[in-house]
Amino acid sequence: MIYYKTDEEIEFVRESCLLVCKALSHVASIIKPGMTGIDIDKAAEEVIRDHNAEPAFKGYRGFPATLCVSPNAAVVHGIPSKSQEFKEGDIVSVDCGVLLNGFFGDSAYTFPLGEVSEEVMHLMKVTNTSLYKAIETSEVGKRIGDIGFAVQHYVERQHKFSVVRELVGHGIGRELHEPPEVPNFGKRGRGIKLQEGLVIAIEPMVNQGRKDVRTAPDGWTILAKDLKPSAHFEHTIAVREEGPDILSNHEMIVEQIRKNDNVLEVGVYDESVVA
Ligand code: MG
Ligand code: MG
Repeated sequence: MIYYKTDEEIEFVRESCLLVCKALSHVASIIKPGMTGIDIDKAAEEVIRDHNAEPAFKGYRGFPATLCVSPNAAVVHGIPSKSQEFKEGDIVSVDCGVLLNGFFGDSAYTFPLGEVSEEVMHLMKVTNTSLYKAIETSEVGKRIGDIGFAVQHYVERQHKFSVVRELVGHGIGRELHEPPEVPNFGKRGRGIKLQEGLVIAIEPMVNQGRKDVRTAPDGWTILAKDLKPSAHFEHTIAVREEGPDILSNHEMIVEQIRKNDNVLEVGVYDESVVA
């Protein structure tokens, strides 16, 4: 059953999402080649615990860490590594969730480290822009299929990259994953109608090569089957009568990226979609 949120509940989710983005901003300020996934995982966990919150992923179905750290061909759900150092030219998807005051927050950003190829920066920009295309579509009266269509059309028709099918966005609130599922592909006019108070995490996962994925031997990491790079950006939003309300905040992440010479700024292609 879909649980539509009250104004008060939406503000709780916003608070959780802002803490997620605070943790991701801290990651943005320190991440660089030579660091490991565990280094940024520890740093993020400290920010979360300092705010009397709990990392939402740690222990979730047995996941061992605060962050999902998914470099290059890893799409999502990567376990932070103790030994594998980030390299110049890597793109690293960092996904974070927190539980604060009984409500979850969820957001993700992909960081390009150092000299990332133009083609891969293109993938990053297309993925990030597709997220805002999806958000722009998330108005009262539209349907879940309209969101998926917006992402898929932009990514696959306009830019010839591939949307991952196996993993989807989701409702969020008192649970990390609530109904409805929010696929990044679909048909216009299909699926449930978007109503006031619907709170969803929208998270396009886009492969440079083919759409197919497989699970790595660690049982968690989702990999692009062809081992080409994959990007991932996620916002949690509330559907409101006035229009979509973005509860997470990537501007604070970008602000830190601008101060960190080891990370490139991603941005979007179509500035008009960013409110
Ligand atoms: Mg997430
Ligand atoms: Mg999510």
